[in-house]
Amino acid sequence: GLPETLLDLLRAQVDARPDSEAVVELGAQRLTYRQLWDRASRVAGGLRASGVRPGDRVAVRYPAGVNWVLAFWGTVMAGAVAVAVNTRSAQPEVEFILSDAGTAVDLAADAPLPDGEPHVHDDAAAGDVAALFYTSGTTGMPKGVPTTHEAFVTNAENMARGLGLPRDIGEDLRTLISVPLFHVTGCNSQLLTAAYLGGTAVIMPSLDLAELISTLSGERISFMVTVPAVYALLLRREDFGGADVSSVRWVGYGGAPIEPALVASLKRAFPDAQVFNGYGMTETASLMTVLPDGDAVEHADSVGYAVPSVRLGVAPIGDDPAVGELVVRGANVTSGYWNRPEADAATIVDGWLHTGDVVRVDEAGRVRIIDRIKDIINRGGENISSIEVETALVGAPGVAEAAVIAVADEVMGEKVGAVIHASGVQVDVDAVLEHCRGQLADFKIPQYVVVSDQPLPRNPGGKLLKGRLRDDVEWGQPLR
Ligand code: ATP
Ligand code: MG
Repeated sequence: GLPETLLDLLRAQVDARPDSEAVVELGAQRLTYRQLWDRASRVAGGLRASGVRPGDRVAVRYPAGVNWVLAFWGTVMAGAVAVAVNTRSAQPEVEFILSDAGTAVDLAADAPLPDGEPHVHDDAAAGDVAALFYTSGTTGMPKGVPTTHEAFVTNAENMARGLGLPRDIGEDLRTLISVPLFHVTGCNSQLLTAAYLGGTAVIMPSLDLAELISTLSGERISFMVTVPAVYALLLRREDFGGADVSSVRWVGYGGAPIEPALVASLKRAFPDAQVFNGYGMTETASLMTVLPDGDAVEHADSVGYAVPSVRLGVAPIGDDPAVGELVVRGANVTSGYWNRPEADAATIVDGWLHTGDVVRVDEAGRVRIIDRIKDIINRGGENISSIEVETALVGAPGVAEAAVIAVADEVMGEKVGAVIHASGVQVDVDAVLEHCRGQLADFKIPQYVVVSDQPLPRNPGGKLLKGRLRDDVEWGQPLR
């Protein structure tokens, strides 16, 4: 059976392979499983000595690295709740999270790691909350998501089964964490999945493309995950300057829509690897669906199939029963938000969590994300997927990035507006629209276009901050 708690999960590896590498911080420390356990239990002792009690919230706000991992495991060993705080947020947002979570202790960059007599609180139950993660805040204020031991363990198992990772992979699983640890992909699907299978988590404290490439061979990385925006930059480096990437066996992307052409380039750049799309959300402790290597190019607009133990449904929003809001349930799915009764009532209905993503499911069970409900543009009764229009725009000559949002209109309700960014070239808006006409129905062609010489605003997960654009962009006159 599965481990009951996170501590059971870690202890199994400490027993099985005490001297194997558990965590590596590039350019700094390396810890074996035994060292990780011993040092984390001292952090737990230090937290207890400073008055932290089971159930108390401890803010984990170190930069990505060994101290982050020790603070996380130390908090769990103290029986407390680790609050993963976005270290890239502006001060007001950090303060919002600290007060929202009601943290007793804040382990921020300038605070030393707690230290005390080794302590392990072993009374946790599978259903106890081990951590709070905050959603990315793409569509509003971030929301705290209580994550139970069972949810963490289930996600690690879903990763293993959903991706077909061999049970005995052990030391051959070397996962490169270049995404934040304060979001579920980095923590749950990389750090904790490595711990579950006895592998090594190799942490890059800050994203540097040249270092990322040299680390692939230098650390014999077998598993990597990052967001489409980072792969787009990475693939501009032809051949990776001749670097050897043959150790890489799994290349995952997700978090935001990917341009289909990028998937084909990824397959060429990593010929020995399985390329996969992973779709999930904070509320599901990470993974919901996987698009496997075999489908990656042919169905590049899809996020694939439900992982084992996750149940998906579609709450129809029109006449077509295959199109609607994706709903999900499973042992990895949160039963509610932290202190947000209204969000709970709106999101969890009859035990199904409403994802806010509108999808179409094909006969094979593949899920395609059409758009976020909040981003769909309703032009005189026609629903337009902003993602579909963005994909067409990004395929046009010179366009590096595009964000498509609704522009209020007295007659139509909403019209289609596009902000495009061209990197280094002069962009010809007429040519861009001409390109779109070859791809999109007439009513989907943007009627407002603004060219930005700045990259578009994104959060660390590579997600477009459309709310900011809605507030800031001056649309001028419509094109037609
Ligand atoms: P908030 O809920 O605060 O508005 P958020 O939804 O961006 O922010 P996360 O939980 O980090 O917060 O992100 C989950 C969302 O990210 C999903 O609901 C989906 O819209 C998007 N997403 C995740 N993975 C993928 C993927 N592989 N392809 C396309 N979109 C994805
Ligand atoms: Mg969300």
